[in-house]
Amino acid sequence: MVITMQPGCPKGDVARVISALRRAGLEPRIISSDPRVVLGVVEEISPAEAERLTQDVGGLDGVEEITSFEKSWKLVSKSFKAETTQVQLGSLSVGGPEVLAAAGPCAVESRENFLETALLLHQAGAGALRGGAFKPRTSPYSFRGMGEEGLKIMAEAREITGLPIITEVLTASEVDLVARYADVLQIGTRNMQNFALLEAVGETDRPVLLKRGMMASIKELLLSAEYIVARGNWQVMLCERGIRTFETETRNTLDLSAVPLLKQYTHLPVVVDPSHAAGKRELVPALALAAVAAGADGILVEVHPRPEEALSDGRQSLRPGQFTDMMAGLRRVAAAVGRQLREAGA
Ligand code: PEP
Ligand code: MN
Repeated sequence: MVITMQPGCPKGDVARVISALRRAGLEPRIISSDPRVVLGVVEEISPAEAERLTQDVGGLDGVEEITSFEKSWKLVSKSFKAETTQVQLGSLSVGGPEVLAAAGPCAVESRENFLETALLLHQAGAGALRGGAFKPRTSPYSFRGMGEEGLKIMAEAREITGLPIITEVLTASEVDLVARYADVLQIGTRNMQNFALLEAVGETDRPVLLKRGMMASIKELLLSAEYIVARGNWQVMLCERGIRTFETETRNTLDLSAVPLLKQYTHLPVVVDPSHAAGKRELVPALALAAVAAGADGILVEVHPRPEEALSDGRQSLRPGQFTDMMAGLRRVAAAVGRQLREAGA
């Protein structure tokens, strides 16, 4: 339920509305106070109770309109907050006019390898570094990451390049550890509905990159984001990374329509990961460009200096030269849609 007050109404009117809602056992939140007060009630209420409240509260002085949240996600919806949330990554605001190009290997494999990659990417203008220290692998026998040692290597790369680091956290019990090193906590596709993990990252003040479950609907993605925001962390970016379809030519199918749909439904910024969608490096630049053309606030891509030697996802990892070429394309597409590509050092 969203209660919109008349512009310039006295504070006493707002206080009376809040008291009336509290008497009904609800805890309204102030969505905005300028140029007018808008209150939101997110608790589940029955249609009969909503009807009664609309009558009672609607009759109070200063109330202009009462509407309902159309969907079951509330805090993340556009009706809760119209302006795009800006997620702060150092001096970059994801969700603002600048487009983020985050890049790095699938996994941190060694200090030498990660620092080499980080320097190449910094030179090519990447806006953030990605890499997994805790890897969710389909097979328990695959390389599962370097753990805390990998986080330390990423922190060193941040020291050297000045670029923020994005890395995945797999379990609620590891959130504090990962948050000590990471600038952005990534929730992977396999964990999108790990509600304990979502709540744990919601308790931190670290930005979160929430990946869409490979078999999850857009609505389910938004509800997962709602778990994080409801715990007080509004610094959430949504990430489309491909969903499972009948198509076998690609690893997943990039659902590009998710970008304009999410932009319509939510104020949270939207990032696209074309690497895990395509599974083939030759498809990645075209999908990345298409994502920015569709309105994405950023892209997340895998890059490896020698993809054939990568311990995970080598087939989809761009070579550094391909990343540089892609950045030139992204620069042009971003400009064509009235945005600007964030360049390292800018
Ligand atoms: C990754 O970013 O390396 C990763 C494991 O992604 P996803 O969760 O989308 O598969
Ligand atoms: Mn990967």
